[in-house]
Amino acid sequence: MSPEAAAPPKVPPKLNPVRVPIAEEPLPERTGDFREVLHAYSKEDAVLEAKRCIQCRRPWCVEACPISQDAREYIRLIAAEDFDGAAKVTLREDPLSTCLCKVCYHYCEDACVVKKKGVPIAIRHLKRVALDYGKSDLVYVPSKPKGQRVAVVGAGPAGLMAAWELGVRGYSVTVYEQEERLGGLMQTIPAYRMTDADVEVDRARFKDLDVTFVTGTKVGRDFPLARLLEEGYPAVFLSIGTSAHRALRVPGEDLAGVIPALEFLTETNRGRPMAVGREIVVVGGGDVAMDSVRSALRLSGGGRVTLVYRRGREEMPADPEEVHGAEREGIRFVFQKAPVRIVGSGHVEGLVVQSVELGPPDAGGRRSPVPVSGSEETIPCDTVIVAVGQRADLDGFGPELDLEITPQGWPQGRRKGFETGVPGVFSAGGRSVVYAMGSATEAAEAIDAYLSARRGEPPSPRPDPFGGEGTFHLPAGYTAPIRS
Ligand SMILES: Cc1cc2nc3c(=O)[nH]c(=O)nc-3n(C[C@H](O)[C@H](O)[C@H](O)COP(=O)(O)OP(=O)(O)OC[C@H]3O[C@@H](n4cnc5c(N)ncnc54)[C@H](O)[C@@H]3O)c2cc1C
Ligand code: SF4
Repeated sequence: MSPEAAAPPKVPPKLNPVRVPIAEEPLPERTGDFREVLHAYSKEDAVLEAKRCIQCRRPWCVEACPISQDAREYIRLIAAEDFDGAAKVTLREDPLSTCLCKVCYHYCEDACVVKKKGVPIAIRHLKRVALDYGKSDLVYVPSKPKGQRVAVVGAGPAGLMAAWELGVRGYSVTVYEQEERLGGLMQTIPAYRMTDADVEVDRARFKDLDVTFVTGTKVGRDFPLARLLEEGYPAVFLSIGTSAHRALRVPGEDLAGVIPALEFLTETNRGRPMAVGREIVVVGGGDVAMDSVRSALRLSGGGRVTLVYRRGREEMPADPEEVHGAEREGIRFVFQKAPVRIVGSGHVEGLVVQSVELGPPDAGGRRSPVPVSGSEETIPCDTVIVAVGQRADLDGFGPELDLEITPQGWPQGRRKGFETGVPGVFSAGGRSVVYAMGSATEAAEAIDAYLSARRGEPPSPRPDPFGGEGTFHLPAGYTAPIRS
């Protein structure tokens, strides 16, 4: 028999479709306060879960990640019980790991090959394991100073990522933030999912980078953007996100008891929860609506919380994990009802809604709601929380920036590398934490190329952020990142 004939046939690795369960706080106790809902894996469970990963030759999980996080590698290290190694791999590409291990929408899991047969690898929870059990109090090391300054406006995920990308390359970065705290919209995420402390843990790793945070300063109000360019910042990154509330624009929105969701969530996180009644209606179908219904339930002292959404369940943009969590906690969902007006004398007494039918898909592929005449009804309630989206606050920023406003409302530069109409000013952000970080990486690379050209040097690829030799990037062909 020839050696070829004797070789065993190639057997594709067997996929184990069953995920090691992730423990949760029990019901109904958890809805009485803001304790964390999901528990971390034990070391033993984490190793078992990591061993389900078949270490794909072409890792779809990495390919799907906007920041090209090498999840395959940290999972391999966890399976080998090398938690320190796993923590280092995680933090090497993701400076906001402590936040993302709790709130990332895990596009990696949606892409994981195991999903074809069952439940994908719990990649996000394994990231948490790497940080919890590995040495994660590492500090980033800047490379040789470049002698150039960059201003970043807005300290949300995009601004923090750009500051990190530029800081490790040796730029001197000043981040201006209008609020007193860093994190942008992550500051509104309820404490049962993540807390301010998580942002602080990530920020602590920046301490040796030449990154200065100036909080309580609103660019465009406290001083004009142009002043940054005039005063020694040859490049500016605008990552102002979507910090403003979008109103429902129906009669009665000024009644007492109508609350904008961002304010509601922010005040709750600051320990100053706004008064809610016992019959609460939340309008919206995205993640802000999900966080609002679950927070309102926790503050209502056993009240009833109803979510009203104008499209159907399939069209809801919210993360399915959050929808599932809300359902389990007893939130009532009312689909295909559009708010018409809010009624009450001085204070909310009801939300008038109208049934809608779903018409043909719009440009974004979602079916547009068509009102059904004569179908009005009133949902009695004493509180209405409006969670129908956010918009950028562009006060103080002029048309010369020529910003594009994306369908989800955040501003970005229209040119290559997210450059705006003003040379040296770049702008990006995103519809999720990791997408915002991915777009900031692209903008930071463009800023580095722009500034390097001014110095007459080639662009500097991202160095090893822990001060190791050479530059750090995944080998060519390892994966092709997708970006928003
Ligand atoms: C309630 C809620 C829950 C969410 N849950 C998740 C989740 O679980 N997972 C997920 O991935 N995403 C989630 N998101 C979305 C995510 O938070 C955003 O996509 C992300 O924060 C966008 O980042 P960004 O940096 O582009 O903008 P932002 O986070 O909006 O940050 C912009 C920053 O710029 C500051 N700023 C604005 N204008 C100025 C100015 N003129 N001068 C100085 N500073 C200024 C703002 O104060 C803010 O800090 C959630 C959003 C909300 C509201
Ligand atoms: S796609 Fe899934 S199975 Fe493949 S390497 Fe990534 S996590 Fe492992």
